[in-house]
Amino acid sequence: MSAAAALGSAGFEVELFESRPFLGGRATSYPVPASPDEEAETIDNCQHILLRCCVNLLDFYERLGIRDRIRFYREFYFIEPGGRISVFRRGRLPAPLHFTGAFLRMACLGRADKIAIARALLALRRERTRRQDLDRISMLDWLLQKRQTPRAIDRFWRQVLVSAVNEDLEHMAARHGFQVFWLGFLSRADSYEMGVPSVPLAELYSAEAWKRIGAVRIQTRCPVERIAAEGFTVGGQLRSADYYICALPFERLEALGLPAPPFTHSPITGIHLWFDREITTLPHATLLDRTIQWMFNKNAGRYLQLVVSASRDLTNLSRNEIVEIAIGDLRLFFPRVREARLVKSHVVKEQRATFSAAPETESLRPEPPSVLPNVFLAGDWTHTGWPATMEGAVRSGYRAAEAIAHAAGKPAHFLLPDLP
Ligand SMILES: Cc1cc2nc3c(=O)[nH]c(=O)nc-3n(C[C@H](O)[C@H](O)[C@H](O)COP(=O)(O)OP(=O)(O)OC[C@H]3O[C@@H](n4cnc5c(N)ncnc54)[C@H](O)[C@@H]3O)c2cc1C
Repeated sequence: MSAAAALGSAGFEVELFESRPFLGGRATSYPVPASPDEEAETIDNCQHILLRCCVNLLDFYERLGIRDRIRFYREFYFIEPGGRISVFRRGRLPAPLHFTGAFLRMACLGRADKIAIARALLALRRERTRRQDLDRISMLDWLLQKRQTPRAIDRFWRQVLVSAVNEDLEHMAARHGFQVFWLGFLSRADSYEMGVPSVPLAELYSAEAWKRIGAVRIQTRCPVERIAAEGFTVGGQLRSADYYICALPFERLEALGLPAPPFTHSPITGIHLWFDREITTLPHATLLDRTIQWMFNKNAGRYLQLVVSASRDLTNLSRNEIVEIAIGDLRLFFPRVREARLVKSHVVKEQRATFSAAPETESLRPEPPSVLPNVFLAGDWTHTGWPATMEGAVRSGYRAAEAIAHAAGKPAHFLLPDLP
C-alpha cells in the first residue's frame, strides 16, 4: 500500500491486487460473528500501536489523509500484580535525560535495578555505532554482559522489547533492542509517544482515503497466482505492466515462483474480552510478571484487548485455556474483574505473525531488486533496518517505489531517514 501511495502521488499508474476482500494484511480489522440478537462488531486482528519515531508510517498516513485518526499517549503504565502502578512519562529535561525523573520514581524497580539500567543505557548510547557484533549476539547476551539484575531484565528490558520486536530476549538480535531503545527512548524527547488508531484498522485504508492519491486502482479478492518476468497471473490471465512489486509475506513467495528467505516465524496472540461492567479507566497498561503483556482499553473499560507477543507458550493451548489464563492474570491487576461477568471472548492466534528477528538474520533480508527483471520486493521481512512492524513495511514499500522510479528514469525520494 505504501509503494502504491508513493508511486500514485508521483504520477505513476498503479494497480494493486489483494487476495482478501479488504486491505491491511496483518494490520487490519474485520467483523466478528455475533449471536442472532447482536450486531457484528468490527475488531482489529490485534491491537496495533506505533511510536512517534515511526516517521515513514506517519508519512504514509499523511498521504492517505488519516494521520489525525492516530491518538498519541504520553504515559506508559507499568502495573505490578496487586495493582501498584508506575507511570513512565517524559519530564522537563532534554533528551536523553527526559525520563530521569520518571525512572527514579518507578516503584516496580529497586535501586540496584535502576543503577544497572542507567549503566546499560549509557553503554547502549556508546556502543550503538561502535560495536560490530550486534547482529551476531542476542539482546540477552548483551544485557548479561552489562550485568543487569534479573528484575531489570524482566520488568524493564523484556517488558519493552518483547512487544516491540515480537521476539524473546534470548532469540532477538541485539541490534533490534538497541534500535528500539535508541529511536524510541533516547534520540528525541517525544519519540516514545505511543500512537493508537482511534478507528478500526481497516478504516484507515478506506476508498475515501485512496481518492487523495493519483491513479491507484485497487482490486480486492484478486489473488496473484504466479509471478514471472513477463507478468503476474491473476484469475488465470497474464497481467503485464512496465514494473511489478511483490509485497507478499515471505512464506508465500515460493508457491508463486520466487525464492523465499530461510526465516522462521514468531507468533502473537490477541485476546479480546467483553465484560458486563467497567474493569479499568486506564487507556492501556503493560502488565508485569505474568503471561499477558499488554492491556488496551477499547471501549469504556468493558472491552479489553490483551496482547502476548512471542507467544510460543500459548501455541498448543485451546482458546478456552487462553481465556482462563487471561482472566486469572487480570484479576491480579484489576480487582473489578473478580465481580464482573465475561460476556464474550475472542482469541486470535497469529502463528505466522512476523519473522523472528534472530541473530544472523539481517544479512539475509533482501533489497528491493529480485531475481526477475522489473520485479521488486517489498514487505516487513525485506532489508528495512527495522524489525517486522508497520514502519518496516512502509519503509520497504517506499524503497521498492524508489527503485521503480529510478528504473523508469524519474528518480524520486520517498523514504524519510530515521531520527538522528
Ligand atoms: C497480531 C499482530 C500484532 C502486531 N502488532 C503490531 C504493532 O503493534 N505495531 C506494528 O508496527 N506492527 C505490528 N505487527 C506487525 C505488522 O502487522 C506487520 O509488520 C505489517 O502489517 C506487515 O505488512 P506487510 O505489507 O509487509 O505484509 P502483510 O500485512 O502480510 O501484507 C501482505 C498482503 O498480501 C496479501 N496476499 C497474500 N497472498 C497474496 C496473493 N497471492 N495475491 C495477492 N495478495 C496476496 C495478504 O492478504 C496481505 O494483505 C503485528 C502483527 C501481528 C500479526
